[in-house]
Amino acid sequence: METEDNSAIDVTHPRYESLMRRKRLVDGYKQGIVVSEGLIAHGRGEMFDYLLGETTLPVSLISERVAAAALSIANRSVISVNGNVAALCPEDVVNLSDIIHATIEVNLFHWNEERASKIKQVLLGNGAKEVLSENPDKSLEGVHHDRGKCHSEGIFSADAVLIPLEDGDRTEALSKMGKVVISIDLNPLSRTSLAASISIVDELTRAIPNIIGFSKEFVGKPDEAKEMLKSYDNVLNLRAVYGSIAARFEKLSE
Ligand code: ATP
Ligand code: MG
Repeated sequence: METEDNSAIDVTHPRYESLMRRKRLVDGYKQGIVVSEGLIAHGRGEMFDYLLGETTLPVSLISERVAAAALSIANRSVISVNGNVAALCPEDVVNLSDIIHATIEVNLFHWNEERASKIKQVLLGNGAKEVLSENPDKSLEGVHHDRGKCHSEGIFSADAVLIPLEDGDRTEALSKMGKVVISIDLNPLSRTSLAASISIVDELTRAIPNIIGFSKEFVGKPDEAKEMLKSYDNVLNLRAVYGSIAARFEKLSE
C-alpha cells in the first residue's frame, strides 16, 4: 500500500477515512510523535472498529453525551493527549478544550521529554494556548514507573479526565484516585474500558467531534448536565455495547 503522500490515497476508496488515519499515524511516526507501539495499538483498535461496523453505535452516542455532561460541570477537567491522539486529531482536541475549558496535558506511556515537547508543539500549532508537557512533577498514585508521570496542575489534581487511547494500568490508577474517568477506546473488553467511569467505545476521530457537539448543548445548563450524569449507568452501557456487537453477528449469521 502506498502511503508516501496524500495523492496515493484514493478519495473514492470505500475505506478512505481509515486509510487517512493510517497515513496520519505513519506521518506522525516519521516526525517522532508516534512510537512504533502506537502503530500496533492502532491496529488493535481497527480490529474492534470492524466488529462495530466502523460506525458509532447508538449506545456510544449516549456515553459521548454523558461525557460532555461530565466535562461541562467538572471543576478541573483535563484532556490527556498521547502521540496517537496528537497525530490523529489535534485540532479537535484543542476545540474541545476551548469549549469545556479543559487543560491539555501530554501523557505518554513511553515517557520521553523530546517527544512530549514535539507533541506540545503540534497542539500549540493547532491553536492550543497552553499545554502541560515536559517536566512532569508528580506520579499517579500506585504507578511508580515512568508511565505514572503527570503534572500537579493537570491530571493529578483534576476531578474529570478525558483519556483517549489510554493504557489500562493508568486508567485503573486514575479511577482509584476518585476521578471521573472518561475513556475513548474501541476495545470494549480492555482494562481501560472496564475501569473507566464513562467508557466510550468508539473511534477517536468520530468520538471527539460528537463530544464537541454535545458539549455545546450543555453550555450554561449545569442542572441538565447533572441530571444526565446521575441517570447514567456505565455497566449497563457497556453491556449494551456487547449486545450491539452480538446482535450484529447474529444478523450476519442468519
Ligand atoms: P488495556 O491496557 O486497556 O488493557 P491494551 O493494552 O489492549 O488495553 P493499550 O495499548 O494500552 O491497549 O491502549 C490502546 C487502546 O486504544 C487499545 O485498546 C485500542 O483498542 C484503542 N485504540 C487504538 N486506536 C484507536 C482509535 N483510533 N480510536 C479508539 N480506540 C483506539
Ligand atoms: Mg495496555
